[in-house]
Amino acid sequence: MTETQLLDTDVLIVGAGGTGLTVAAAIASFAPDLRVTLLERDLSSPCNSAIASNFIPAAGTRFQRAAGIEDSPELLLADILKKNGGHVDLRLARAICEGSAEAVHWLVDEVGVALELAPELTWLGHSVVRMHAHPERGGPPVLAALRRFVQACSQVEILDQTVCTGLAGDALTGISGVSAQRAGQALQIRASRVVLACGGFGARPELVAAHIPEMASAPHIGSAKDLGDALDWGQSLGAALALMGSYQGRDCIFADGTRVTPPVLNQGGIAVNAAGLRFVNELQDYSSLARVYRQQPGQAAYFIWDQHIQQQVAGVLVMRQAMERGGIVQCADSALLARTLGLPAATLEATLRQWADLPRGSPDAFGRAAPERPLKPPYYAARITGAVAHTQGGLVVDTAGRVLKPDGQPIPALHAGGNAIAGISGDSCTGYLSGNGLLVAYTSGYLIARTIAAELSPAGA
Ligand SMILES: Cc1cc2nc3c(=O)[nH]c(=O)nc-3n(C[C@H](O)[C@H](O)[C@H](O)COP(=O)(O)OP(=O)(O)OC[C@H]3O[C@@H](n4cnc5c(N)ncnc54)[C@H](O)[C@@H]3O)c2cc1C
Repeated sequence: MTETQLLDTDVLIVGAGGTGLTVAAAIASFAPDLRVTLLERDLSSPCNSAIASNFIPAAGTRFQRAAGIEDSPELLLADILKKNGGHVDLRLARAICEGSAEAVHWLVDEVGVALELAPELTWLGHSVVRMHAHPERGGPPVLAALRRFVQACSQVEILDQTVCTGLAGDALTGISGVSAQRAGQALQIRASRVVLACGGFGARPELVAAHIPEMASAPHIGSAKDLGDALDWGQSLGAALALMGSYQGRDCIFADGTRVTPPVLNQGGIAVNAAGLRFVNELQDYSSLARVYRQQPGQAAYFIWDQHIQQQVAGVLVMRQAMERGGIVQCADSALLARTLGLPAATLEATLRQWADLPRGSPDAFGRAAPERPLKPPYYAARITGAVAHTQGGLVVDTAGRVLKPDGQPIPALHAGGNAIAGISGDSCTGYLSGNGLLVAYTSGYLIARTIAAELSPAGA
């Protein structure tokens, strides 16, 4: 049997997704004297930050100012609270909102991530344009820039194909390191601080069934590496857990995550069920709608849009992927559409006619105003179902990401961020304001790094 290898570092980060890479990169920026070690289960398989469309909200950025948009952390906080009904740790939500612009500026200026203002998703509950996204509207280029930055820092080491298997220490005296496995080799790594950036539990069906029973049989379209490790370790330490029913719902065409971009609905598209009938105001946010789609016959719905909308969204990464994977059909008229989708032709024809004939601007039976332009053939369509994208419940932390016990005291030397923590999205799918995932991932990572750098390094103080 090979002997356990002993390693030593200043900051040990579990998980090299958006949160973990941000912690590593920001510590390297603030405190270049600190040694940082990142453990990653498998860099070649996508984490949630790579799967995400990567719309990142931030309030009060220079990009907004240049576009003449007035925004503030208070306004972002108000939008978040409106969406989650106040089911949130107010201090954490406020700290995240206040740190959001600084984190985005740092990503652009220090790390070199190309971000621009993205106006497409404002309708989902943000009162001003505040989404920032890569021009390709996808996660991979953002993660690639972060990874390049980290790999160029000599004091940061990424141990790939390395699975953290447990924490050393206890809730009273604190955490002094971790145990890990790498290619059959056991590792014990001592560290002054441990950061759990290893995501949520969306890929653990038994945990989803226990905490989010309404989605027990729904596909999970997030990272297959979202195995709930932080939750297990937190539970065995006696850490406080909260908002366990919180998740981001999404629609998907295939269980591999193939999906359409939300603006196909916003710009005038509709959803019908297997009877060819509309059943909901499609402009509700995609997270809340996921479970509504699961309640339809066959647990399915059909999104229908037209050529004009298709031209607006054709370049978006997920649309290109959906096209390539055969998830979108194009049909010259409603009869062909009904035949292709297997829907009752007369009902579908009537539904499309009713939607097209609705007086512009006036609300329909579901409270949705007809769009400026009626849908016209040729039509595009996709059969979808509701899915779990990622979970938002987990470890309770303070504003610096310190993991807390039920009495509110921190577990010494242990931090957590991103999807590992109880986030800012209430306690179900309806509290998720679009962008809450990456807002928490990047900003909590940045705030954790700032705290650790200040505590451990004269350079970071
Ligand atoms: C389909 C989809 C679309 C989304 N779109 C958006 C969006 O547009 N905007 C938005 O704000 N949010 C979006 N999100 C949510 C967002 O992706 C997540 O909230 C965010 O990426 C979480 O970051 P993270 O660092 O916590 O997790 P991840 O990015 O998943 O990183 C966790 C890492 O930890 C590693 N890990 C896990 N366990 C271990 C272990 N034991 N040892 C070593 N490594 C381990 C994993 O391998 C993984 O690489 C979306 C999510 C999905 C699934």
